[in-house]
Amino acid sequence: MDLPTIAPEARAARPRITPVRSSRNSVNLVEVAPGVDYLTVGFVNLYAVGDVEQGWILVDSGLLGTAAFTRSAIGRRRGPRARPHAIVLTHGHFDHAGSAYALAEEWDVPVYAHRLELPYLTGRSDYPPQDPTMGGAIAQMSRAFPHSGFDLGRRVHPLPDDGSVPHAPGWRWLHTPGHTHGHVSLFRDSGRVLIAGDAFATMDMDSWTSHLTEREELDRPAAPFTTDWGAARRSVEELAGLEPAVVAAGHGVPMRGPGVAAALHGLAARFPVPPHGRYVHSPARADEGGITELPPPVPDPLPLRLAGAAVLAGAAFAVARRRG
Ligand SMILES: [Zn+2]
Ligand SMILES: [Zn+2]
Repeated sequence: MDLPTIAPEARAARPRITPVRSSRNSVNLVEVAPGVDYLTVGFVNLYAVGDVEQGWILVDSGLLGTAAFTRSAIGRRRGPRARPHAIVLTHGHFDHAGSAYALAEEWDVPVYAHRLELPYLTGRSDYPPQDPTMGGAIAQMSRAFPHSGFDLGRRVHPLPDDGSVPHAPGWRWLHTPGHTHGHVSLFRDSGRVLIAGDAFATMDMDSWTSHLTEREELDRPAAPFTTDWGAARRSVEELAGLEPAVVAAGHGVPMRGPGVAAALHGLAARFPVPPHGRYVHSPARADEGGITELPPPVPDPLPLRLAGAAVLAGAAFAVARRRG
């Protein structure tokens, strides 16, 4: 499969786009669009979607151990007794589903995800191993991240086949595979609001600087965890076709404005597939039971470099001792 690659410096500027105020380092939810608030928990965004009076849902749940923080932040904006009618997961990665069970138990609500994501949310399968070999910030960080699934037991259910989102009238879910097999995005025609999960990011996850500055830009999803790049590109094309006016992803500050749709079309047209990596030329395959086929691992230069550095450091130490 020949997919185009692009150097980071070639990623185009985006006119007429306004970042939403950052929610990082804040205990308060920030409004993205009417009825849509977001909260950054660590490095991942959660979305409270819908009206407090008429019912609302939480989209994604954050890292394991963050449930209490999320509940108190939501309580601060939506009222101390506020609780959603459901939790909807864009996918089951550790940063999006880590607190799903704790929140679902505390609120006594169901969790919904795509049918193809259920193997990783019912304890049947782990995710394909991440591939850190393409380099960049998120690739290096991913070495410390898990690729294990969760077991949400009786709490988790498949999303309805008709594309509706339970307890979120006006919203529909779209199957946007590529990052994971059962990844979904959520779209509301009113205001053309797109919650994209990890179908793409609104920051450059490969840049160490961007992780600090939250510089806003449309970019590919977290590369080490993306296991089908052809599908990932097609998903971004489909999402661009919705002509969103607001894009709210799992990572990065949400963005809005008349230039957003054109920028997303631009991302789809020059989708920055990594030049090399385990899943770049052949995807991982999976079905409703979990992984069915994995491409073989690719050589990882870092352990060799670490070993080389250790040998050099040891030799330098030995020489220093002899001289000393
Ligand atoms: Zn993910
Ligand atoms: Zn993520």
